[in-house]
Amino acid sequence: MTAIVYSEDYQKHETGNHPENKERTQVIIKAIKEMDAGQNGIFEPEMAGEDDLLRVHSPEHVAKIKAFCQQGGGYLDFDTMASPQTYQIAKLSAGGAIKAAKLVLEGEKSAYSIGRPPGHHATRDRAMGFCFFNNLAVVLKYLREVYNIKKFFIFDFDVHYGNGTAEIFYEDPQVLYISIHQDPRTIFPGSGFIEEIGRGEAEGRNLNIPLPPGSNTSDYIYILENILKPVADKFKADFYLVDVGFDGHQDDPLSSINLNDDFYQWVAMEMMEITPSLALILEGGYDLSALYRCNQKLINGLNANINFEDGNIKENKSNLKQRNQKVHRETKDLLNEIKKIFSPFYEF
Ligand SMILES: [Zn+2]
Repeated sequence: MTAIVYSEDYQKHETGNHPENKERTQVIIKAIKEMDAGQNGIFEPEMAGEDDLLRVHSPEHVAKIKAFCQQGGGYLDFDTMASPQTYQIAKLSAGGAIKAAKLVLEGEKSAYSIGRPPGHHATRDRAMGFCFFNNLAVVLKYLREVYNIKKFFIFDFDVHYGNGTAEIFYEDPQVLYISIHQDPRTIFPGSGFIEEIGRGEAEGRNLNIPLPPGSNTSDYIYILENILKPVADKFKADFYLVDVGFDGHQDDPLSSINLNDDFYQWVAMEMMEITPSLALILEGGYDLSALYRCNQKLINGLNANINFEDGNIKENKSNLKQRNQKVHRETKDLLNEIKKIFSPFYEF
């Protein structure tokens, strides 16, 4: 059963009626407690230290967030809001991600950190897009330093491009970042095009799948089936991290992607077929009832594959696919373009 990492203290990152608010993690933990998965117990995170943040972020950035919160918080930019306790709770959110990775190293097949604030838009020097510190990057650098783990596979299915994560590892050949997101011409943060493939020795290590508004579960399944496993098999990572976002759901107010509930179970099952173990980190998702349902789907998918050999489980996955078969022409064209760009690096 997937291990859950969560703290009630996440509510202390107080943002009022901002879309990224405390009700999000509350509804997710409620969804999990109301299914069998919650019976396993929920692990409390430890706060990440400043040293953990400083492996990723500049001292100026860390000091700026700390001082801003000490002075009472407010809007750091047009959409990123801090409260007096945000600096502490952002460290707790990063610590939750570290805890999930540690649980995986201790033998859990999967561990899911349900933390806030989220992290994937935070760059080395800048908070943006509701994010202060890049939780995933903090974990990755922690695992490198403390456990000497070298090669990392990251898959990010939040509807927005994780520009912070991509930028931090853009020249790092040992980190593969795959992001599926809404076409950046139509959504924040305005980057994440297929031509952004990594730099220098890391060329081919940044793989973007930007889908047009209106894309649905069929499009996602079709393109991910053709990319995730072939690329992962060739890259052969030592550790797998998934950035989980629910804002591509058709009910979500912040995107124009039309995923249904099926996707979240399918994607969890797909990842568990690609790797025997993974750590998951919460990013976005702003419709509370979609968050409730889709988190249960995700957990079902993660747990189902513990008994992956079971014929019924495989049948379930193919049922999910059968129900979602109408792939748009644009998606097929996009896959061909991606294959062309990445054929020097991977075998599709
Ligand atoms: Zn998002």
